[in-house]
Amino acid sequence: METRKQTHVAILTSPGMGHIIPSLELGKSLVSQHDLKVTLFIPTTSKSPQSSTLHNNQDGLNVINLPPVDITHLVAGETSLVVRITTIVRESLASLRSIIETSQQTPTVLIIDLFSTDALDIADEFKMSKYMFSTSNMSAYAFLAYLPKIKRVKNNNDLVSRLTELVHVPGCKPIRVGLLADPNTGSYGCMLRHVTRFKELSGVLLNTFEDLEQETYRALIDDEIAELIPTPSVYPVGPIIKPTVGPSKNQAIHCLSWLDNQPNGSVLFVSFGSGGSLSSEQVTELAFGLELSQQRFIWVVRNPIDFVLPSSYYLDAGNTKEIDPSDFFPDGFLARTQQVGLVLPNWAPQVEILSHASVGCFLSHCGWNSTLESILNGVPMIPWPLFADQHLNATLLSDDIKVAARTQIPPGKEVIRREEIKRMIRLVMEEGDEEGQNLRRRAKELKTSALRAISIGGSSYNSLCQLVEKWNTESDSVQL
Ligand code: UDP
Repeated sequence: METRKQTHVAILTSPGMGHIIPSLELGKSLVSQHDLKVTLFIPTTSKSPQSSTLHNNQDGLNVINLPPVDITHLVAGETSLVVRITTIVRESLASLRSIIETSQQTPTVLIIDLFSTDALDIADEFKMSKYMFSTSNMSAYAFLAYLPKIKRVKNNNDLVSRLTELVHVPGCKPIRVGLLADPNTGSYGCMLRHVTRFKELSGVLLNTFEDLEQETYRALIDDEIAELIPTPSVYPVGPIIKPTVGPSKNQAIHCLSWLDNQPNGSVLFVSFGSGGSLSSEQVTELAFGLELSQQRFIWVVRNPIDFVLPSSYYLDAGNTKEIDPSDFFPDGFLARTQQVGLVLPNWAPQVEILSHASVGCFLSHCGWNSTLESILNGVPMIPWPLFADQHLNATLLSDDIKVAARTQIPPGKEVIRREEIKRMIRLVMEEGDEEGQNLRRRAKELKTSALRAISIGGSSYNSLCQLVEKWNTESDSVQL
């Protein structure tokens, strides 16, 4: 009997760990659970330490680091992150094209991400079906899909520039979009160009699950609303997150042995994602806030950044540059907190930490991967958004999903003072506080529903199966 050839799917991520990690995990699950042949393409620059740590075969997934491109002419702090990411992807397309052209089995599906829409031309050239994997949530996606329509309103009277005001996307709960598409920055035109191409896609995979964002999901699949929000079919397939490493490797990690010696639920984990950073003054206030809260903590720190954007380390994530936190911490902070706190420079095994029973709360920048990792481990959050979709995520988590404390972190340079930091931490960490109890209960509920969504027969599992079936049918018809 003739056996069918495996469907070949290409995934083109954009640089940045927040995009590479979920794309890698999506690829691995398409290989291991759905028997597809998958190649993940990662654009790189000579300064991309993140992807150089990836092996080219990850559980059967073929990983190709595209040759490094040079964007040194685009200065961080002067050129927006979105423009720099888009440029890296665009400059990498010639290499992508030549690899696809010479590949033994041309992929029949191309999955891009938000910042790699320029690759849709390559998909057309090679007659590949076009999909996008959105590594943020459904509310952010709905807003972006609606953005071309908002622009028309903006011309009349500036709807999106009022960053802290509510935006009404048809059928969805009003959201505060924060810095996601700020018309006062260089990223706006670039973002608009990407989202205008959504209409060329056959579908959008979203790293979220139906139960988490029911109202938005209903809006996006409603025929009448579809007239108002120009979107292709959406497929919530998440949470797709990095798995924890096995126990033997875990034992070697010092912070995990430290956690083993702390009481259950007693540790606050503080981290600002793969590239977030704070100003010197903010680091000082956070240090005092932690100390005043008298809670146990693990804090992932980076050198403070004072005069450039909080996203400046983003494309540099995972770098191993030595830092000495005593250079920028308040005098005596490390000595005074050494019994209760652990400071980790630059990078930490985040998923392993969040899955440890001693962790009781995550003070997070609310990057969407960090959020999903917190949810899948039943850990409530304190939101501290910095850039991109993070303000939107923070308000979604506090006001709608109700797994994060309600805080007032403005999308600006205002410094959050130590008393407020102490208040936020105590509210979630202290046993007696009712708001904290509600958050902990909600976190446990969400963990259960997230696990249900990705189990066999769950909504996200079924969505992915539906897509794979479609891709297999299309691929078979090409091979006939
Ligand atoms: N991450 C990590 N260790 C760190 C910082 C980040 O493993 O010290 C991982 C984290 O687990 C997540 C990703 O990097 O998977 C960050 O993605 P997210 O969307 O949360 O934020 P971004 O870095 O894109 O702002």
